[in-house]
Amino acid sequence: MARHLDLATRDALVLRMRFYRDLGLTEFYRRAVDPAILEQFESASPRLEEQAAAPELQEVSLDNHAHEARQAASGNAATQSILSAEEAMSARKAQFSSPLIAPEVAPAGRAAALEIIREEIGECTRCALHKGRNKIVFGDGSPTARLMFVGEGPGADEDAQGIPFVGRAGQLLNNMIAAMGLRRDEVYIANVVKCRPPGNRTPEPEEGATCSPFLFRQIDVVRPQVLVALGATAATYLLGSRQPLAGLRGRVHAFRGTQLIVTYHPAYLLRDPRQKKEAWADLQIAMKELGLKPPGKG
Ligand code: SF4
Repeated sequence: MARHLDLATRDALVLRMRFYRDLGLTEFYRRAVDPAILEQFESASPRLEEQAAAPELQEVSLDNHAHEARQAASGNAATQSILSAEEAMSARKAQFSSPLIAPEVAPAGRAAALEIIREEIGECTRCALHKGRNKIVFGDGSPTARLMFVGEGPGADEDAQGIPFVGRAGQLLNNMIAAMGLRRDEVYIANVVKCRPPGNRTPEPEEGATCSPFLFRQIDVVRPQVLVALGATAATYLLGSRQPLAGLRGRVHAFRGTQLIVTYHPAYLLRDPRQKKEAWADLQIAMKELGLKPPGKG
């Protein structure tokens, strides 16, 4: 492997090495990496366990469950052989109460880091939703976006195209983004589950719990300043709270180092356009956090 890697490739490599190391797969990356890079990495890069003890990561609770959660989230075959199905489920549940924030990736390496997550998802069969999907809908937009939207799951149009929010609800989301003075390619968009639930039903808890760790990792890579949860399902999985939407809207929540705002799902706004005014009020909170003014208001 070449010693002189460009910055983006090196950042992506370091992210992957940290990931494997924290799963205990040190021999795996030691065999694959140039010794000079390995030496720099091992001497300069604290383990996640050490980072969790650092003051800036106090919110991270690193216990055995959380470690198992990362193992379960990896989808790595070697890891899955370590955990029984029951342990894996309990570990996935634990991820909600102990979300680990991954080390920050430099902006130049974020596209490559997202690509690594996509590669790890592969042709995923980790939950039952794979049976009915056409395309995995990973995410769309800028890997360095300051604003990220999270929806529930793909619908028929998204399943056909492999891109989130491209149907009627997607058109409304595009209009909402434009009203905020942004272009769609300036934001990042993803869903709680990456495969279409049959008949557009709400994802089952096991499906959401199995898929959402990939979303958490996307959030950790993009590191948006503001995250907007679209609808109750996204809010529930992101905040780990089953409160009704009304109790979560209208304020800023701290989540994985971002400011999280909850609003209605565009599909709901299509069914009940009277709530658009409320949704706009939520988006204005997001705009305030981002220092944005509506177009035409200088
Ligand atoms: S929804 Fe997520 S976990 Fe389930 S099969 Fe699709 S990609 Fe895999």
